[in-house]
Amino acid sequence: MTDTKDFSDYKGVWVFIEQLDGDLTRTTLSLEMLGEGRKLADKLGTELVAFLLGHNVKKLAEELVHYGADKVLLADDPALANYRTGHYTDIICKEALERKPDILLVGASPVGRDLAPRISYRLHTGCTADCTLLDIDEEKKILVSTRPAFGGNVMATILCPDHRPQMSTVRPGVMEVPQKDMARKGEVIDLKVSVDDAKDPVKVLSSRKREHSGINIQEAERIVAVGMGAGDTHTFAKLEELAKELDAHIGGTRPVVEACLITHDCQIGQTGKTVRPELYIACGISGTVQHTTGMSGAKTIVAINKDANAEIFNFAHYGIVGDASKIVPALIEQIRSAKAVN
Ligand code: FAD
Repeated sequence: MTDTKDFSDYKGVWVFIEQLDGDLTRTTLSLEMLGEGRKLADKLGTELVAFLLGHNVKKLAEELVHYGADKVLLADDPALANYRTGHYTDIICKEALERKPDILLVGASPVGRDLAPRISYRLHTGCTADCTLLDIDEEKKILVSTRPAFGGNVMATILCPDHRPQMSTVRPGVMEVPQKDMARKGEVIDLKVSVDDAKDPVKVLSSRKREHSGINIQEAERIVAVGMGAGDTHTFAKLEELAKELDAHIGGTRPVVEACLITHDCQIGQTGKTVRPELYIACGISGTVQHTTGMSGAKTIVAINKDANAEIFNFAHYGIVGDASKIVPALIEQIRSAKAVN
C-alpha cells in the first residue's frame, strides 16, 4: 500500500512557533524545535519553515530566521493575539493543504497538545505525541519519531508512511536550543488571513496569568532536586539552604509534589518538566524511569542516597551513599568554607 502513494509533492519541515506576549524566549520549546527541524530539513535536503501566528509578532520573524528557519509563514491579526483553537487550526490547515509540508512539528505544551490533534484530524494524518527523539530514515526518507511508552518502560519508534504531513509533538527541554546566527537570511511570507471572530463560538472574556512558584525550572542552571528520602522537614529545610548557597532552584519528584512540599511546576520527569541544567543534585531520589526521563540530560548529576544500589546512581556522575539528613549539612559547610577561602 505504501508503494502506491506518491508524496513527491510534499516538501519542507514546518515548525509551529509558540510565543508568549510577543516574546520567543519565555518558552524555549519553539527554538528547540527549530534546532531539531533544521537537522531534519538538512537530512532531507529541504527547507525549514517556521509558522508564526499572533498579533504584532512580525518582529519575531527575523529572529526565527536567525535560529535556522529558511522561511517564515506569518499570520498576524488582532484576533490571533490569544491562542484560539479554531482560528489557529483553520489557518494552519488551509496553508498545509495548499503548500503540502512533508513534516509538521508542534510543541508538546498545553497549546500544542490542544492544537496538534485538531490539525492531524482535519488533515487526515497521524500524530506521534510527546516525542523525545526525531530522525530521518535514510533509505525511505521518512520521519522516525521516538517516544516513551507504557509508563516510560519502553521507547516506541513510530512511522507515518501512508499520510502527509508526518506530525509529531515534541517534549519541552529534550532538544537543544540552536546557536543564533545573525548572518542567516530568509524569506518572510505575510499570509492574508481572514479571521471571522463573530463566527467563533468561543469568546475570550478575560485572561489571568496562572499562579505558580514564579520559577521556570527549565531555565535553571543549577537544580537541587528533592525525593521522598529527603522530604522530611529538617532535610527539606537544609536542601533549601543548599540551594541558596549554590544559587540553585528546588525541584523534585512527583511524590514530593503530591506531598505538597513543592508545586507541580517544579516537578521533574515524565509528567512534569524536562530539564538540562549544568548541575543537578538528586537527593533521596530512587531514580525511576519516570523521573530520570526528565533529568538525564543534565551536564553534571550528583546523587545522594542511602541505598548504594539505587537506580539513580546509574545516571550520576558523582554519587554519595549515606543519610541525606547528615550529608546535606556537611555539603553546606564545605561550600561555605570553600567560599570563605576564595
Ligand atoms: P522513592 O521511590 O520512594 O525513593 C526514595 C529514595 O530515597 C529511595 O531510593 C531511598 O533509598 C532514598 N532514601 C530514603 N531515605 C533516605 C535518606 N535518609 N537519605 C538518603 N536517601 C534516602 N515521578 C517523578 O519524579 N516525575 C514524574 O514526572 C513522574 N511521572 C509519573 C507518571 C506515571 C504514569 C507514573 C505511574 C509515575 C510517575 N512518577 C513520576 C512516579 C515515579 O514512578 C516514582 O514513584 C517517583 O519518581 C519516586 O519518587 P522518589 O524517588 O522521590 O521516591
